[in-house]
Amino acid sequence: MSDIKKMLVVGSGQMGSGIAQVAAQAGLTVVLNDINEELTERGLKTITKNLTRDVEKGRKTEQEKADVLSRITLSTSLDDSRDVDLAVEAATENMEIKVKIFEQLDAIAPAHAILASNTSSLPITEIAAVTKRPTQVIGMHFMNPVPVMKLVEVIRGLATADDTYQAVHDLAVKMGKTAVEVNDFPGFISNRILLPMINEAIYCVYEGVAEPEAIDEVMKLGMNHPMGPLTLADFIGLDTCLAIMEVLYEGFGDSKYRPCPLLRKYVKAGWLGKKSGRGFYVYE
Ligand code: NAD
Repeated sequence: MSDIKKMLVVGSGQMGSGIAQVAAQAGLTVVLNDINEELTERGLKTITKNLTRDVEKGRKTEQEKADVLSRITLSTSLDDSRDVDLAVEAATENMEIKVKIFEQLDAIAPAHAILASNTSSLPITEIAAVTKRPTQVIGMHFMNPVPVMKLVEVIRGLATADDTYQAVHDLAVKMGKTAVEVNDFPGFISNRILLPMINEAIYCVYEGVAEPEAIDEVMKLGMNHPMGPLTLADFIGLDTCLAIMEVLYEGFGDSKYRPCPLLRKYVKAGWLGKKSGRGFYVYE
């Protein structure tokens, strides 16, 4: 597998913008894609804000910031995958959306290109099956916020080839991350363990066990978690949390993974957490 020099990131939201930033910091040429210019511009604004903070804190020079930004271009068409070595999809957590993106990437990207998904929970094997290159499809699951968090879960689909795994593992290391190899099961490791805990915290609100602040306080002070589960849910996005619980529920066919009705209600109300200004807490 050739060296990965040029990358397309599909989806310029919380995760996509972070992935683009870290890849550009590692010296890659990056194309950041979304469905319209307003969204790609918003992604670039987030990156610029992060880099400016790095300069203010003395972690980067103005020149380094300018170099990173010069390696990122914006795109609203998947035709821009025609000369990349890797595409990392970080679009909305929805199988239909991801399948459409992978079918297009498979048709347009060069034969050698690897197609990766940053999905939190959707089956890599199923995504790979819609392409003609399942050996070159893999999960590259970054954590939020991407510039800060060290972990990348690298998920092997049933057909993922060893050299695909190795190339993505090596890239994660080049991006300053620690790669952990995981096989393709619903929720992988991270979200299979994390999300049922978050869902249980939401049940505690739903059943009136305590207020959100109290639940978060117990988990912070009592379990030494850096952030309470409801604050974390707001950061992840409640729509994403619900989507992951649905995948666990359906994937294992076990009622212990049923999403809390209160989580469904919040998502229906548009209370998606920090990104929409309101979730379990209110954000300015
Ligand atoms: P987000 O809502 O912030 O961003 C998703 C972006 O995808 C939006 O800008 C949307 O316009 C774009 N998009 C939708 N359809 C598209 C298409 N057809 N082509 C191009 N762009 C499209 O969501 P996010 O939190 O960045 O999550 C993105 C992915 O990363 C999801 O699969 C999610 O499960 C995964 N993930 C999220 C987290 C987290 O903590 N939020 C952590 C790890 C992985």
